[in-house]
Amino acid sequence: MAEIRVHELHKAFTDFTAVKSSSFAVRNGEFFCLLGPSGCGKTTTLRMIAGLELPTSGQIFLGDEDVSFKRASARDIAFVFQMFALYPHMNVRRNIAFPLVSQGMARDEIGRQVEQAARTLRITHLLDKPVSQLSSGDRQRVALGRAIVRQPLAFLMDEPLGALDAEFREVMCHELRALHDRLQATTVYVTHDQMEAMAMADVIAIMNEGVIEQLGAPLEVYERPASVFVADFIGAPSMNFLPFEAGLASGDDAILIGPARIAVPPLREDLSPRALLCGVRPEHVRFDDASGLRAEVLATEYLGTRTVVTLATAQGTTVRAKVDVDIPVARGDHVGLAFDAAKISLFDAASGRALR
Ligand code: ATP
Repeated sequence: MAEIRVHELHKAFTDFTAVKSSSFAVRNGEFFCLLGPSGCGKTTTLRMIAGLELPTSGQIFLGDEDVSFKRASARDIAFVFQMFALYPHMNVRRNIAFPLVSQGMARDEIGRQVEQAARTLRITHLLDKPVSQLSSGDRQRVALGRAIVRQPLAFLMDEPLGALDAEFREVMCHELRALHDRLQATTVYVTHDQMEAMAMADVIAIMNEGVIEQLGAPLEVYERPASVFVADFIGAPSMNFLPFEAGLASGDDAILIGPARIAVPPLREDLSPRALLCGVRPEHVRFDDASGLRAEVLATEYLGTRTVVTLATAQGTTVRAKVDVDIPVARGDHVGLAFDAAKISLFDAASGRALR
């Protein structure tokens, strides 16, 4: 397996710049997710790593080798598309063997490799079945089999679970991660689904309009989002943003929203007066009658283990709280809101960047 390094990668199409000076490194054996909304440049980035698209500028290294302008076939990388790229008229064995046959590998050796890939994916019992008779999940596994049988330096996956229904996607998420733990293969995985990325990735790169907004472990991007975009994109329901205006000094550990004094992590820098946003995740909102931050309950949604309560503050901001199901709360109730100070993020409203 090998490390992948991407340096100042840039891709301009005739009328559109899809990727803007992106840099990141995927360590040997790491599961790396490119995450972002449709059109943010994830697939273009992946296609450049695969060699299916040439960069406008920048470099891509596979191990120590600069592969930026090498043909796809000269890069030892397996690309797994949404997994319907199987040959329906062939059985599972021949589908998995296909890349090895193309390489001209000896028949015995192909047999051994296919058996091993099938064991890894636990599909040995399907080897002689025609692909057309398989469920979508088993097809998924066969497509993976075809990728792993080559034992490439790295795997690139573009929304491989995109065509599956939600329940099955969750199952395949666990399987893919378990497979990764067994193979320890360097993997770059593209998805627009933050739950998939959070569940599987060692490191997530969150992209927006061709730019990587933040690189970090799932917990880090969740707990310390670098921007409003990241904070909003990760987590469901998404983070609450309460606007306020203030000038603050280094060391300040409270802000005012309307009449309410809200404790926040101590500031590290002086800030001239400006528009700011107080970001707090729904699970860090509590009801506290003593709080001066008053709100009215607009709706409640029971989720089994938690209730999501939608409220409007006296300042007119919508806030969502995820609270224990046994907390009595009903539409029309008036409550005070309190936040877990250590979990609050503050953002500059104009730039959207987090204050650190
Ligand atoms: P999706 O999940 O929808 O595929 P994405 O984040 O993977 O989104 P890309 O497929 O990388 O996004 O596309 C990024 C932008 O580049 C899009 O606006 C797309 O229309 C544009 N784009 C991609 N390929 C080309 C092309 N060959 N010519 C012109 N524009 C392109």
